[in-house]
Amino acid sequence: MFFAFKKRIFLKSSNVFSKTKSFRKLSIQTNNFNSNVDVAIFGGGIMGLFTGFWLKRQSPSLSVMVFEKDSKYKNSTTILSCGGIRQQFSLKEHVQLSKFSAEFISAINDYLSVPNGEPVDVQFREDGYLFLATSEESANTILENHKIQKECNACVEILTPDKLKERFPWLNTDGLHFGSLGVKHEGCFDPHLYLTAVKRKVIHLGVKYTEAEVIDFVLKSTGGSEKKETCNSVIIKTSNGETKEVNFSFGVIAAGYESGRLSRLLKIGTPTEDCRKVCCPVEPRKRFIFVFACPDKSIKAPMVVDPTGVHFRSESKNFISGKSPASWEEPDTNNLDVDYTYFDKAHWPILAKRVQAFEAVKVIGAWSGFYDYNYFDENEIIGKHPYYSNLFWITGFSGHGIQMAAGAGKALSELILYDSYQSIDLTKLGWQRILSNTPVYETNII
Ligand SMILES: Cc1cc2nc3c(=O)[nH]c(=O)nc-3n(C[C@H](O)[C@H](O)[C@H](O)COP(=O)(O)OP(=O)(O)OC[C@H]3O[C@@H](n4cnc5c(N)ncnc54)[C@H](O)[C@@H]3O)c2cc1C
Repeated sequence: MFFAFKKRIFLKSSNVFSKTKSFRKLSIQTNNFNSNVDVAIFGGGIMGLFTGFWLKRQSPSLSVMVFEKDSKYKNSTTILSCGGIRQQFSLKEHVQLSKFSAEFISAINDYLSVPNGEPVDVQFREDGYLFLATSEESANTILENHKIQKECNACVEILTPDKLKERFPWLNTDGLHFGSLGVKHEGCFDPHLYLTAVKRKVIHLGVKYTEAEVIDFVLKSTGGSEKKETCNSVIIKTSNGETKEVNFSFGVIAAGYESGRLSRLLKIGTPTEDCRKVCCPVEPRKRFIFVFACPDKSIKAPMVVDPTGVHFRSESKNFISGKSPASWEEPDTNNLDVDYTYFDKAHWPILAKRVQAFEAVKVIGAWSGFYDYNYFDENEIIGKHPYYSNLFWITGFSGHGIQMAAGAGKALSELILYDSYQSIDLTKLGWQRILSNTPVYETNII
């Protein structure tokens, strides 16, 4: 493995240097601005940062730049996430990614501490996820998934209604077939603390974090009969309004819900004669999270997931709940306003049915965020695009991304460094399935 790694770096570095010679002189340059980098990452949310983290950890001499248009992350999905983590998925890859992240978070200071810095504490609470089976159909799905989770050594248990009642006396078990509970490595952490810790470490490792918006890519024709286009330059607009061109050997699209839009700058999703005519199917989808108080303060709930999609968990002394809307209910994505009527309409009836004490809840807050939604099959797109041999995507996690970021970033860094996955094989979740119109479904999406 070490040999393969060395080989790849050698090839890549020589690539960088030979290209550097022919780079045209940049019209605008500042002294502290690197105009040539080995890897340029477009988007500095959790996916972009983790990709940078693993690249530098494995190859310290690599020059890596992250371009993030808003260093305050006001509308970034990562910050607006619930920070939930579970191994209860149907795809082996997802169980593995989440398990990897849980182990990473459990030993977070081994990875993310910096000399003389405060220790990292992302407030990881292993309260579990409880998936409820209310019909034969949901029971079968949960049992099938349970098998896969067990094969991946996830700590999950099937609990009969009696056992559920014993463990969660506040839960109405009427009509339940059983529940599936994650007893280790499942729960939640603080997304803001997580992002901040990864960012601090990445900068410490020498990644150049730049507040700048990617506004275009420079495509060059190779000429000849092949008529291919290549991309080794990006145009960015810095926070003080300057426009610059930066040359890179490898590029990573990690722009969250804006990845579809960014991909169009690379002609992906435009009427070309080649495979770029298929778009990057990632767009924003608004999701509401409601915070509610309940008079009964004795309830301590894991993340309880009803087959209707309504899910809730304890959050400090209160609770939060969420639900992905049906396709005909999708809220508009022009803003992040919250539709408070959605709680009464879609959340409360299910909540009150499942927990009697929730009949008397009061909504005390709410927020919304954009899912990085892949409308093709609601799963991540990770890996190289077949058209561009030096461009990689890590996007479209559709609501289950933050918990997979540590593992996904590692996997992508391996693909960039070694040209193949070394730890978790994510080939199945690459571009090929999009181009061949063969969706890969995850049956445990909430
Ligand atoms: C309400 C809600 C709850 C969620 N709950 C969970 C959960 O419990 N568990 C879970 O695992 N996941 C959850 N998610 C999903 C998870 O948060 C995302 O999958 C993940 O954070 C995506 O990370 P990202 O880095 O791809 O995107 P982002 O965090 O959006 O980062 C992308 C970055 O790219 C930047 N960018 C975009 N365009 C450009 C450009 N042109 N130039 C420069 N920068 C650019 C953006 O500013 C942004 O900071 C939730 C999401 C939402 C909305």
